[in-house]
Amino acid sequence: MGRRMLTGSTSAPYTIPIRNRMSKTKSDHRDFADDRDLYSGLIRLHVLHHAAHEPIFGLGMVEELARHGYRISPGTLYPLLHGLEKKGYLRADELRNGKSRRKVYRATPLGRRALRAAGGKVRELFRELMEGK
Ligand SMILES: [Zn+2]
Repeated sequence: MGRRMLTGSTSAPYTIPIRNRMSKTKSDHRDFADDRDLYSGLIRLHVLHHAAHEPIFGLGMVEELARHGYRISPGTLYPLLHGLEKKGYLRADELRNGKSRRKVYRATPLGRRALRAAGGKVRELFRELMEGK
């Protein structure tokens, strides 16, 4: 993504409408949830990546992930964010805007280091996947 702020207020709904599956073949019936285990690490890296660039918040991240085809509910994402915070990869801050408060997350130095290390592994995997090696 570009420099779009993930912390800006948004009016978009955070639930993604379920696609019409009536005319799809059997393999297309598979839901993202069926393969979630496969993507959980990628989702965490994705979150960490954005949190290293700018403060992120839950619903903004749900939207960003949906844009990439990861359908993940706030009920799944929030525990994931807390988990990354517990591990020391993310730091949470509360932003106050008048009466409303919003929890934002930023990558910690440990998180940035982990992200850099993961980057090398992702690059290798990408190469193998794309070049069929
Ligand atoms: Zn992204």
